[in-house]
Amino acid sequence: MAKLCLLGATGTIGDNTLAVIAQQPEQFTMVALTAHRNVDKMQRLCAQWSPRYAVMADDDAAEQLQQRLKHSDTRVLSGLGGLNYVATLAEVDTVMAAIVGAAGLLPTLMAAKAGKRILLANKEALVMSGQIFMQAVQENHATLLPIDSEHNAVFQAMGGQNQARDLKKIILTASGGPFRQKTKDELHHVTPEQACAHPNWVMGKKISVDSATLMNKGLEVIEACWLFNTDSDKIEVVIHPQSIIHSLVEYADGSFIAQLGQPDMRVPIAYSLNWPKRLNSGVKSLNLTQMNALTFEAVNRQNFPCLDLAYAAFKQGGTACTVLNAANEIAVAAFLNRQIKFMQIPHVIEQTLSRMDNQPALNLQAILAADTQARATATALI
Ligand code: NDP
Ligand code: MG
Repeated sequence: MAKLCLLGATGTIGDNTLAVIAQQPEQFTMVALTAHRNVDKMQRLCAQWSPRYAVMADDDAAEQLQQRLKHSDTRVLSGLGGLNYVATLAEVDTVMAAIVGAAGLLPTLMAAKAGKRILLANKEALVMSGQIFMQAVQENHATLLPIDSEHNAVFQAMGGQNQARDLKKIILTASGGPFRQKTKDELHHVTPEQACAHPNWVMGKKISVDSATLMNKGLEVIEACWLFNTDSDKIEVVIHPQSIIHSLVEYADGSFIAQLGQPDMRVPIAYSLNWPKRLNSGVKSLNLTQMNALTFEAVNRQNFPCLDLAYAAFKQGGTACTVLNAANEIAVAAFLNRQIKFMQIPHVIEQTLSRMDNQPALNLQAILAADTQARATATALI
């Protein structure tokens, strides 16, 4: 029976995780649920799942939850201290890392240092501190399983491992997002509402905007380099609008191995929750004979410059990926607040990268300093 800490329980990955667990609740113990400020949803989740701990990252929200749960057995904790505490509890063996953005880094890293089985949705943690994170996983014998559908597909195509012999290439598929067919002129005028209306997936706002700019794919290229210990030259991105083939690997002999399925996050979540065995995800079967054609096309790199910014940051190394990630978070938040236009997102990221000195990413302090400085630089630019 897995003893679970669910970081980011109130988000869309949180919803999908709980939906999979609800199919076979007897196989899981819910030790901890965490959120940021959404007290109403957390109260409902605590009533349903009776976790031993509930953590609100925001102190005021924690106080409110504490009031509402004062007659329950759930212990309410707050802040980063609370997140780190539940991610490293001896009674937890599996940590679902589904906080969005850089806020997820420290608790996920703590879980790695505590040798947990980490189900990684929070790709930003790996993008901003790949080397340190992977080192913590290796030194502490943690297990890292990718939740991102593309990486989960690659992991499956490599036979449930993160390293494959005679690998030639990893091919990450991308739906192309809601603006795949727009002209550059049209892209200047798109709204946050349009950016968040993804054609194939229901996701949080930040990753929805990332999918629309293709920065999500850029972050995923970096994530794949770290997860599968490979250089970015071996990672290719291809547009596949139907989101049925979740990614592929090519081997030296010309074999391509792909993973297919419904575009539904419950599939990779179920796979990782019970790896190496399989669980019922609750997702309906793909009907191959009723499916539309599966098509592929090249990325339009002029309209979606974020992808190449990510490749370049990985090549540059040091703190460049930390800066890329931080500038992107600030630019996406500003776009959602209507402070900048859609096509200014890559501009803010590029300018932030060019204004900051690249530093060696030697330790966590260097990463956090680069993150803070990049946020200040991007904010000033906006
Ligand atoms: P959501 O925005 O739906 O949920 C984010 C979760 O993180 C919520 O529980 C939120 O709490 C919590 N949170 C937000 N800010 C903080 C903070 N400062 N401190 C602590 N907790 C915080 O995001 P998603 O579920 O869509 O995505 C989560 C992660 O998974 C992201 O890294 C994303 O890239 C990745 N991912 C998501 C996929 C998807 O299909 N959604 C697919 C692949 C990867 P509250 O509700 O209280 O704000
Ligand atoms: Mg993905």
